Amino acid sequence: MDENGLREVRLTDPEIAAAIAEEERRQQDSLELIASENLASRAVRQAQGSVLTNKYAEGYPGARYYGGCRHVDRVEQLARLRARQLFQAEHANVQPHAGAAANLAVYLAFLKPGDRILGMNLAHGGHLTHGSPVNITGRYFEAYSYGVDRASGLLDMEEVRREAALIRPKLLIAGATAYPRRIDFAAFEEIARAVGAILMVDIAHIAGLVAAKLHPSPVPHAAVITTTTHKTLRGPRGGAILCRRQYARRIDQAVFPGLQGGPLMHVIAAKAVSFKEAQQPEFISYQERVLENIQVLAEELRGYDFDLVTGGSDTHLLLLDLRSKDITGVEAEQLLESVGITANKNAVPFDPRSPRVTSGLRLGTPAITSRGMGPEQIRLIARLINEALACRTEEAALGKIRQRVCELCRAFPIDQVKKVPAGG
Ligand SMILES: *Cc1c(COP(=O)(O)O)cnc(C)c1O
Repeated sequence: MDENGLREVRLTDPEIAAAIAEEERRQQDSLELIASENLASRAVRQAQGSVLTNKYAEGYPGARYYGGCRHVDRVEQLARLRARQLFQAEHANVQPHAGAAANLAVYLAFLKPGDRILGMNLAHGGHLTHGSPVNITGRYFEAYSYGVDRASGLLDMEEVRREAALIRPKLLIAGATAYPRRIDFAAFEEIARAVGAILMVDIAHIAGLVAAKLHPSPVPHAAVITTTTHKTLRGPRGGAILCRRQYARRIDQAVFPGLQGGPLMHVIAAKAVSFKEAQQPEFISYQERVLENIQVLAEELRGYDFDLVTGGSDTHLLLLDLRSKDITGVEAEQLLESVGITANKNAVPFDPRSPRVTSGLRLGTPAITSRGMGPEQIRLIARLINEALACRTEEAALGKIRQRVCELCRAFPIDQVKKVPAGG
């Protein structure tokens, strides 16, 4: 990937250079099926590795607390403009260091400690920062959760309505981290309005699909939208907030000086580059291939008798319930890692096992699609997953699977990230 870019690191710090080089090899030689990961382009990584890391720019364009900000001002203005255009939003803040920071800024903007929030249950696919008891959001606010229907695995909008009417939260949160189906933002809007709650939608996972208009946008429905920039959106690791004009000042104040100090201008430059990439027609066809690939993966895995939570997917990810395969999530994760397939264990709704063990596995197609893989490769990957689980203790067979994974990876080097074939 960046062999030459490491020359200086190698001279200064051989230990770190070695770890980076080995990580690069790991990425090259393994199949990345973690649904929240992706492969940022060289352009994004160059911007992120630029001298902009040297600059302090507390404040916002035109109103900084430091001198020498004229160039970084242009960077942030472009990033904000492109974010607004990409999502047709009235206001964008591109300074949050991460998705979690974006969410915290929204809480800071709208809530006082002890206020009530209502978000999706972490154990049903929600995110830690939506009020989990182990997170600051569950400790500083009075947090309640809604979940999915036990039989269908689908979001239970009746439960959301009931809980919202009972709890009367100040903030209603929609969005998920391990939910494979579309979320009905209009229904959330209606519930929020009925109970006088502010609606926040967290599109950290699906932002790329929303930008490509392959998932309905929450922008017309929510007061405020948070996202990461590094998942399906394929930018640098970071966060962003979109909101209505009337909340712009409140959100900006919450991010800085409310929550953060100096913005990461190098990351904001990389966000701007990724937003520009996301405005290109190739980005839409990339997202279409992500969706095509997940459909092929779902169909193939169903063919091998895997149970899919909700029966399938309308996004970039799917959730396997492994109980019928007599293997836990953690065992499957470790087994697949041993053959070069990276995925994460994940609780399934109403999981009898602990979060450290789990009964599920979450799989996503964003990263392998960025490498240019299409249906033919997906069918092979599904077969290799099935074989690995079937012969889990046979070392020789697992060795052969590892070899097939390696060959597949070599045929689709990560350097090709920009040159994905049109037909996938
Ligand atoms: C990934 C994710 C986040 C957190 O993003 P970080 O950049 O890891 O802080 C927040 N919300 C949802 C729904 C996510 O999936």
